[in-house]
Amino acid sequence: DNAQPKKPSWIRVKAPGGQGYAETRKTMRDHNLTTVCEEAGCPNVGECWSQGHATMMIMGEICTRGCTFCNVATGRPDALDVFEPGRVADAVQKLGLNHVVITSVDRDDLEDGGAEHFAQTIRAVRHRSPGTTIEILTPDFLKCAPSVLETVVAARPDVFNHNLETVPGLYPEVRPGARYFHSLRLLQRVKEIDPSIFTKSGIMVGLGEQRPQVLQVMDDLRSADVDFMTIGQYLQPSSKHHRIDTFVTPEEFASYEKAAFGKGFLMVSATPLTRSSYHAGDDFARLRDA
Ligand code: SF4
Ligand code: SF4
Repeated sequence: DNAQPKKPSWIRVKAPGGQGYAETRKTMRDHNLTTVCEEAGCPNVGECWSQGHATMMIMGEICTRGCTFCNVATGRPDALDVFEPGRVADAVQKLGLNHVVITSVDRDDLEDGGAEHFAQTIRAVRHRSPGTTIEILTPDFLKCAPSVLETVVAARPDVFNHNLETVPGLYPEVRPGARYFHSLRLLQRVKEIDPSIFTKSGIMVGLGEQRPQVLQVMDDLRSADVDFMTIGQYLQPSSKHHRIDTFVTPEEFASYEKAAFGKGFLMVSATPLTRSSYHAGDDFARLRDA
């Protein structure tokens, strides 16, 4: 039986609109930039964009992987656009962002997985907007030499985020092509290379995982010295994507949040509509000013 649970009342999404939303949208179009907000059909787009928060997606709109929860198209990507780092830097400056989240598709077709392009984008943003904190959300660089990670870390993002996405037992059906322990080790290596960088990871729940498995992921992340964690409800982008197993209640999210803080994370966001970039800037500013 493939029946899906009914959407509960707490998954309420504000329709996008208003002036701030329109301005963010125009800036992205003018700079020919892709956002994960749109590509992923993020439920928070109305709220985030009206406040000028957006997550830019670099290195094209086509991914070499095919994660079953993800709305991004799979296929053969285009060549890298050498002007993209500059356009991202322009857009960040134009939007006057205090904090920017930059992510990308997975580029298994490139020898360095796009590491140098990420580094160039970080440097371009830093150069034009020295006061803006930079958070990157990277692919796993699974097929690359281990040294490519050093290229990205050397550009000194403020926050290095790489999502585990789900519990290890669900990898074969949710994140084929990825390896749980590789992703965990990637996060740990960032901290080993540069302990001044905050590390962050997130998972979706409602895919069929059990609570003890989620608690185990928290322990694994803390063992890898990861600082921040996000947990959000998985929402199915279309009927072709992985089915929703359950809607986790707000009370269960609150209990995950409490458990995660108890395990020593510096920052935790666990609510139904949490996404890895949701309120990332506010949370980071709070932490920095604390
Ligand atoms: Fe974009 Fe992240 Fe906000 Fe979603 S939560 S709209 S992906 S910035
Ligand atoms: Fe989507 Fe990232 Fe998976 Fe590509 S690697 S399919 S962009 S989640």
